[in-house]
Amino acid sequence: MQHNDLLIRFWGVRGSFPVPGPGTVKYGGNTSCIEIRNKKHVLILDAGTGIIPLGEKVLNERTNSNGEVLPITVLLSHTHHDHIQGLPFFKPAYHKNYAMYVFGPELLGRDIETSLIHAMEPEYCPVKLQDLSAEKLIRNFKIDEKLVIRNSTYHPQLFKKETVVDDVDPGDMVITSFKSLSHPTDGVYIYKIKANGKTIVYSTDIEGVPGGDEQVIQFAKGADILIHDAQYLADEYSDPIASKKGYGHSTLEMACEVANKADVNKLVLYHHDPSHDDSEMDKIEEQARNLFSDVCAGREGMEIWL
Ligand SMILES: [Zn+2]
Ligand SMILES: [Zn+2]
Repeated sequence: MQHNDLLIRFWGVRGSFPVPGPGTVKYGGNTSCIEIRNKKHVLILDAGTGIIPLGEKVLNERTNSNGEVLPITVLLSHTHHDHIQGLPFFKPAYHKNYAMYVFGPELLGRDIETSLIHAMEPEYCPVKLQDLSAEKLIRNFKIDEKLVIRNSTYHPQLFKKETVVDDVDPGDMVITSFKSLSHPTDGVYIYKIKANGKTIVYSTDIEGVPGGDEQVIQFAKGADILIHDAQYLADEYSDPIASKKGYGHSTLEMACEVANKADVNKLVLYHHDPSHDDSEMDKIEEQARNLFSDVCAGREGMEIWL
């Protein structure tokens, strides 16, 4: 990897629940997980079932680390099952060669660590959070903070947003967020990752509004890549019998409208509905191309280099 390279790799693009099977081999059936790599760090957006094969790959590529403990940062948008389900099965979390940093929002008055402890109580999960034996730090990410992940430093560091941080190298990652209340029940965090002069916005589990969500449009203004929820077709969203309004997800039209108004370079449709098989996803991608020039539907295994 070149010093300036920034890689985005998709490991899970599905919303709500995993859908393995012959109908989803092209786009994939795993739930939300994206890997972002710069020179030293592995940043993982959400821990849906896609994080499980990612864990295998991380272990394979780093077996010869000469005893050096390697850092992995997991950033959670929220704690619905499809965004945390893979965490107990992420093998590096049990390995002494890795250090895990997990950041996510406080939702419903519970800090992120408490929410994860609850999700892994014995009634629901064979292992407890404390059984993840890698060195780990789990902390709330607040909207008035920024997370700096430097190539020169081992630990990711949180600062107040307004703090001027010295010695941030262009290759380091700087992450900011805002909370959208458009997802039940207590909202979701939307993240912006800047590195190498490039900007990636991760906007999943968000429901658009007519005219485009102004908060997201401003946050994503001029981004190189916008990864945006596009779970529904317009007729599914407004189905008179089984309307999806209020479920906290967008249509592909909503995602394209935000991409157009925010003037982003590339839009990746994300959080695909489990009922949309590969042929349906092909049609969705085609339909979106009429609405935004550089758009694709996220696929497992897809890589974008910046
Ligand atoms: Zn979701
Ligand atoms: Zn959700």
